[in-house]
Amino acid sequence: MLNIVLLGPPGSGKGTQGELIGKKYGLYSISIGDVLRKEIKNKTNIGERIKGFINQGELIPDSLIVKIFTNSLEKINNNQGYIFDGFPRTIFQAKILDNILKKKNTDITAVFSFCIKKEELINRLLKRGNILNRGDDNLKTIQNRLIVYKKQTEPLQEFYKKKEKLIKILGSGSIESIFNCITVQITNIISSMQ
Ligand code: AMP
Repeated sequence: MLNIVLLGPPGSGKGTQGELIGKKYGLYSISIGDVLRKEIKNKTNIGERIKGFINQGELIPDSLIVKIFTNSLEKINNNQGYIFDGFPRTIFQAKILDNILKKKNTDITAVFSFCIKKEELINRLLKRGNILNRGDDNLKTIQNRLIVYKKQTEPLQEFYKKKEKLIKILGSGSIESIFNCITVQITNIISSMQ
């Protein structure tokens, strides 16, 4: 199995690249942000509970997000592997993911960490906010999401570096060129597994 975690600040391209990687390698890309937005759109109980956090750019508390994540993962069965886009975002969540995969007799293969300048992220997110009308892609919320990322999610880089899973990817440039860098890395990983 190939299990890939996508790590990176909001707007760094995790979703776009996750879908491309999924298609090419037959992996199921689970975007936790999409799962959450669906709950809000369908006005479920969970949707009502999480809406405020998302609109303010805060993380949903670990206990709740872990429940949402495990529930949605249970519905998917893919022998080839998964792409985790947006989960984990805290060390607590990373440890939970390790345990979930262990129970499935598998492990994280690699963590791609997207690096990109703050100004470029803000521009991308503002543009996306205009196109997709996402409630959290406005300047105030974007700025908070970047602060939250730095404080709560960036430490995951060190966490995965210690486990020798971290692969840094330059997140600026065209979608194709970034995808090419990723496929080179995945090809290396696959050949080292054989
Ligand atoms: P995303 O679409 O991945 O950028 O996520 C949008 C928002 O959903 C984030 O700003 C958080 O409010 C919430 N969210 C997504 N993933 C997580 C997570 N792993 N833990 C807590 N909150 C999350």
